[in-house]
Amino acid sequence: IKWTEGRGWHDAELVPYAPLSMDPANMTLHYAQTIFEGLKAYKQPDGTVATFRPRANAERFQASARRMAMPELPAELFIEACDALIKQDSAWVPDSGEASLYLRPFMFASEVGLGVRPANEFLFMVIASPAGAYFPGGVKPVSVWLSEEYVRAVKGGTGAAKTGGNYAASLVAQAQAASHGCDQVVWLDAVEHRWIEEMGGMNLYFVYGDRIVTPELTGSLLPGITRDSLLTIARDLGYTAEEGRITTEDWKRDNENGTLTEVFACGTAAVITPVGSVKSERANWTQGDGEPGEVTMKLRKALLDLQTGRTADTHGWMHPLG
Ligand code: PMP
Repeated sequence: IKWTEGRGWHDAELVPYAPLSMDPANMTLHYAQTIFEGLKAYKQPDGTVATFRPRANAERFQASARRMAMPELPAELFIEACDALIKQDSAWVPDSGEASLYLRPFMFASEVGLGVRPANEFLFMVIASPAGAYFPGGVKPVSVWLSEEYVRAVKGGTGAAKTGGNYAASLVAQAQAASHGCDQVVWLDAVEHRWIEEMGGMNLYFVYGDRIVTPELTGSLLPGITRDSLLTIARDLGYTAEEGRITTEDWKRDNENGTLTEVFACGTAAVITPVGSVKSERANWTQGDGEPGEVTMKLRKALLDLQTGRTADTHGWMHPLG
């Protein structure tokens, strides 16, 4: 779907996957006015296909657009575009289990020009790709690197938007994590470098017995849809679920004194991933016994059961294809 200043959204079309041709002076290539989303379509037990909370993705896409001086795509158009693509590709929606069809809606400036200003032309597209189970061999805890050198986002910056630049800025820290033998980066706040924000592509939860806590939305972390869903699902299961503030010192101390029983990350791609070990320039510890925790696995099952239609959708989160 195209957007042009003065004309709005126009020319929606469904076309076979193919390379785009671009002018070398395309504004996106230079100034990165680009946003995206990620969501999944799951096969349901009756053979139909449903997406999980697409309206939440559509609304986050609008918030990202506002931050990046881009036009807001109406939520109905966003959902319709995803539905049209899934219908076209329904043969690719995997049959069962945790496998899904991953959808990547995105928008970028399609205008040509070298002046730095908001573009007047944009292109919104959706591509799809079948995604297997994230942990085909069973859930495996990840090791994380606390990034004290780099920051992902600052107050007033673009941290709460799903824009390409945030991910570009994170790559050097991801490479640093890998060089220390860690799977993922954990980002800290930009001012004191001690408040836990989020992981490279997932939000974090801290489990204190039957109380689970996720870092509050400070404006510099992404408001994850999985994160939001788990606040509700955890309460449904009888846990206390809340937003709070946790420092790296809290994490280390509460793990040592045994009050912090589990830590997990959550996001569309992996749903829920246990955190098994933590490293930084100054510290190195095993989270709990390093194995997937009971609460983590219970929440993971509850969310996946809902997404795959094995339990009732009591919150109206599943969007069936018409
Ligand atoms: N944080 C970041 C930086 C992410 O890229 C993602 C993935 N979209 C998340 C958190 C988790 O968000 P969601 O649950 O909506 O996938």
